[in-house]
Amino acid sequence: MPRATVTQCAVLVGGLGTRLGSLTAHTPKPMLPCGDRPFLGWLLREFVRFGVTDFLLLTGHLSAVVEQAAATIQSMLPCGATVSLSEEPIRAGTGGAVYHARDRLDRRFLLCNGDSLFDGNLARLLADSVADGDDVTGRMMLRRLDDASRYGVVALEGDRVTDFLERPPPNTAGTINAGVYLFNRRLIDALSPACSLEAEVMPRLARAGALRGTVSEGYFRDIGVPEDFDRSQTQIPTVLRRRALFLDRDGVINIDHGYVGSRDRFDWVDGAREAIVHATRAGWHVFIVTNQSGVARGKYQEPAVGDLLDWIGDEVRVMGGTVDDVRYCPFHPDASVPAYRALSDWRKPAPGMLLDLIRAWELDPARCLMIGDQDTDLRAAAAAGVPARLFGGGNLLDVVRPLIEA
Ligand SMILES: [Mg+2]
Repeated sequence: MPRATVTQCAVLVGGLGTRLGSLTAHTPKPMLPCGDRPFLGWLLREFVRFGVTDFLLLTGHLSAVVEQAAATIQSMLPCGATVSLSEEPIRAGTGGAVYHARDRLDRRFLLCNGDSLFDGNLARLLADSVADGDDVTGRMMLRRLDDASRYGVVALEGDRVTDFLERPPPNTAGTINAGVYLFNRRLIDALSPACSLEAEVMPRLARAGALRGTVSEGYFRDIGVPEDFDRSQTQIPTVLRRRALFLDRDGVINIDHGYVGSRDRFDWVDGAREAIVHATRAGWHVFIVTNQSGVARGKYQEPAVGDLLDWIGDEVRVMGGTVDDVRYCPFHPDASVPAYRALSDWRKPAPGMLLDLIRAWELDPARCLMIGDQDTDLRAAAAAGVPARLFGGGNLLDVVRPLIEA
């Protein structure tokens, strides 16, 4: 069972969107176009970076429009995830929408607003939640603002959210709700068929000592406000087309003992997790691209490769970073296992794994960086148009930090 990773995310998409006038007469806010896709497509694309594979859209107003577009949005995601709907039977409010989906929610689930996007470090929220005890029902992302007078603010004692307060006077700094939450199922006991999470349920949880907060900085856009919606058209695609760090696995992330196929033979390279956390915090994607001819040679089987990569991702999230996506190549021309005997254009020094990630994540290769410990890594990167550095051992953070900061 993963320690930090949460695979389900419920998304509140049932709002009326009255502030946007005629724009939302026939289209729910999260479905409005933003650049070349619905806003919701950008939002879900961010969550899959952190290990979410199951989206539950909590619909109400214009649910049929969301239903019609769900398959398209799912197909536009850069990695495999399912998108399904739970429609509220009455106008239930944000808490009621969760209540009516209660039978479909996991033991732990993320929840977010469908009409705002916060480019904070979600992995920090996941990492902080690892230490939360049974007295904690939820944890929310918070934003620190120099002038919080447009918003209600939260009161904090350490990371404990103790209360929700009215808007402060102009030019008063404050900490505000960023609209992204991690809950466990105990939340459902605090809900009724029609209620507001923000106005009723969360203030009650806060006063009961059951709510925590993770403060993060980052780009925030609420498309429910007309001028923000206009600005989001160019800003969101620009902000979310990130730079990317490609990492080879054996010899870069873990010590290359030869055909490492299980955790008991996996030893982290010094600074490897810290380097990934650093890249995540800097707003970069992190991808692993690894030749795994151990499968072709019968040293271990393909599911073991996936399990180990999932575990690596979770261990990194425990520390507040993420591995956005992975590619591995199980083939080898001299394989002892016939099913894997092939000359694959994914096997480095061929660039197939990098090219596939560049396509799926819409990357500009010139704004990426590959780090590998073999000449074959550098050749694969060069063939994909990605600048590369050879890692000769030592501490990976010492190598990655200056490159990211440059
Ligand atoms: Mg290597």
